[in-house]
Amino acid sequence: MQEKLIKGYDRFRNGYYQRNRARLEQLAQKQAPEIAMVSCCDSRVDPGILFDVDPGEIFVIRNVANLVPPYETRGDYHGTSAALEFAVTCLKVKQIVVLGHANCGGIRALMENNDTIKPDSFIDSWMQIAAPAKKEVLARTDLDDDEQKIDACEKTAVSYSLRNLMTHPWVRQRVQDGKLNLVGCYYDLHSGELVSVDEINADNAADKTASV
Ligand SMILES: [Zn+2]
Repeated sequence: MQEKLIKGYDRFRNGYYQRNRARLEQLAQKQAPEIAMVSCCDSRVDPGILFDVDPGEIFVIRNVANLVPPYETRGDYHGTSAALEFAVTCLKVKQIVVLGHANCGGIRALMENNDTIKPDSFIDSWMQIAAPAKKEVLARTDLDDDEQKIDACEKTAVSYSLRNLMTHPWVRQRVQDGKLNLVGCYYDLHSGELVSVDEINADNAADKTASV
């Protein structure tokens, strides 16, 4: 393990852990987060720091480009869907947040068809979840350049992930019962601003500027 991690763990063990020992020991018995969050693997987007929450408060599911796949029953390895299923049916979270972000490498690679994504690679297959978002953004006439299109796709992909969440029967049921709500938002790495992204108005997702 890298020295950086060893020293960091030492600081945690002697600092945060000692200060919060009682709560962490209590948490060891049971987790009961009320929020699940789908966020990107991107090292610059850390939900725990971004929302200033402690261990046990949010159930974080990280994947490339914070995508939610549509519900399906094929017997493949569905890490994100499995984690969502656990969060909804076992932990019974009250809210699922899909957190998009600026400068997303996965979305950029999808939009630019660049070398980051090799055909038939795991990333290629995974990023196809966002293909409808790409198609929608490319059809828009109000976006002037490639950077605006990438920015719009980052947000529109969040909209599609919110739609895809509703294809999972256990999500749909709890939303319809009023026990679960779905939220989309987008973090701008440059300004630190957080904006909301609607589930249904994907066409206008890039123009949303209302605060969450
Ligand atoms: Zn990303």
